[in-house]
Amino acid sequence: MTPRAWFRCIDGCPGEIPLTDVVYRCPSCGALLEVAHDLDALRQRSPSGWTRLFDERYKRTTWPYGSGVWGKKEWVAPHVDDDNVVSLDEGGTNLFWAERYGGQLGLDELWVKQCGNSHTGSFKDLGMTVLVSTVKQMIARGAPIRAVACASTGDTSAAVAAYCAVAGIPAVVILPRDKVSTAQLVQPLANGALVLSLDTDFDGCMAMVKRLADEPGIYLANSMNSLRVEGQKTVSIEIVQQFDWEVPDWVIIPGGNLGNTGALGAGFLMLHQLGVIDRLPRIVVAQAERANPLYRAFERGLDHLEPVAAQSTLATAIQIGNPVSYEKAARVLRRFDGLVEQASEDELAQAAARADRTGLFTDPHTGVALAVLEKLVARGTIGRRDRTVVVSTANGLKFPEFKIRYHEGALIGIGDRYANRPVLLPADYDAVRDAALSGVDGRDLAPRMHTDPSTVREVGAPRGR
Ligand SMILES: *Cc1c(COP(=O)(O)O)cnc(C)c1O
Ligand SMILES: [Zn+2]
Repeated sequence: MTPRAWFRCIDGCPGEIPLTDVVYRCPSCGALLEVAHDLDALRQRSPSGWTRLFDERYKRTTWPYGSGVWGKKEWVAPHVDDDNVVSLDEGGTNLFWAERYGGQLGLDELWVKQCGNSHTGSFKDLGMTVLVSTVKQMIARGAPIRAVACASTGDTSAAVAAYCAVAGIPAVVILPRDKVSTAQLVQPLANGALVLSLDTDFDGCMAMVKRLADEPGIYLANSMNSLRVEGQKTVSIEIVQQFDWEVPDWVIIPGGNLGNTGALGAGFLMLHQLGVIDRLPRIVVAQAERANPLYRAFERGLDHLEPVAAQSTLATAIQIGNPVSYEKAARVLRRFDGLVEQASEDELAQAAARADRTGLFTDPHTGVALAVLEKLVARGTIGRRDRTVVVSTANGLKFPEFKIRYHEGALIGIGDRYANRPVLLPADYDAVRDAALSGVDGRDLAPRMHTDPSTVREVGAPRGR
């Protein structure tokens, strides 16, 4: 069975546009596009038929269906021939039961979806596999595409560069100079992309790449290209699958350009429309206070987006003042009884470091989501028994400067409550023994925290694990 899928206007203009057309906005009204699926065709398989099929494929070896994205191919990108799939075995990431951290906050079931445990270290791989596979198919059928191009806050460019290198397609990435981490800069360089480093911010890079995409033969890989949303929506499907097809109560997502918010919403809605789940979770978008246009719009009742000039933030991947996918995110917030909350620089850094003390290794964006989680728990919005998932968007190893500077106490205006510094010693056994034995007792297993012990209680492993 090959179900059909096509682009359509999110504002309801009539017409179906093939997924292999080079088009990013509605030709009639200029609104964003989304990918529509033939739900009647998909309903020919029962909900339990789908979940059985997805479970059979999950992390197995039949290429490309072991990928968390391609294992759901019929719901995601049925238009791509298997021969044209460009996959790095994305998805299938750990849903980590954050038992100690959740316990400190007074939550029985806090889970962290580790989307950063991926080939290029962020969730961007999930969308890029669909986009680059589509481009490969277009080229195979004679489309005159010379290169794939993107503007990036660091993670999109790493994914574009890697997937294009695997497929042998040229890539052009436009980055804001000195606003991405060293690791993020070296990723596209290593994969051979043409890296244009501009003296501007992300929004400035985005304006450039939109114009570049009008040149013949340049294919735009930013998230206004809704093919990426299709791959990223598998995060929601996979979360539900990892709970044995049960829906969590809350999902918290750090949001910048807001493509991922639209994507996670799309995944849950599709599960709902196809009868796999019978309710929706509540969705929370977490923003950095210094780049918070969605938060401001939410405070005004989601009337409209007023772009802001994004201030510099440690959460560089969400330092975006004019999010492309605002309209999609606003719809998700309305449909999912959603919330938007923000985190200051100090709050995001402390939350990241605190979570790290319980075994995570948190990037600053996940830090924003965790800080927002802490606020919602403190406020009583999220309750002890609510099953809560924080979407971790990147791997902490991509942000060494953030983590090192925190532990050195070198981040200006940010406390170092959970900082841990190396003890410098001569190679002398007595000194080593004294330091080890005096430093180890009572060490950190519960660092200086304001947790009321009466709210912490023993919990058994949640079911289904
Ligand atoms: C891209 C990115 C985000 C933001 O995703 P949007 O779709 O732009 O909202 C958050 N965290 C990380 C690490 C990212 O790379
Ligand atoms: Zn339209």
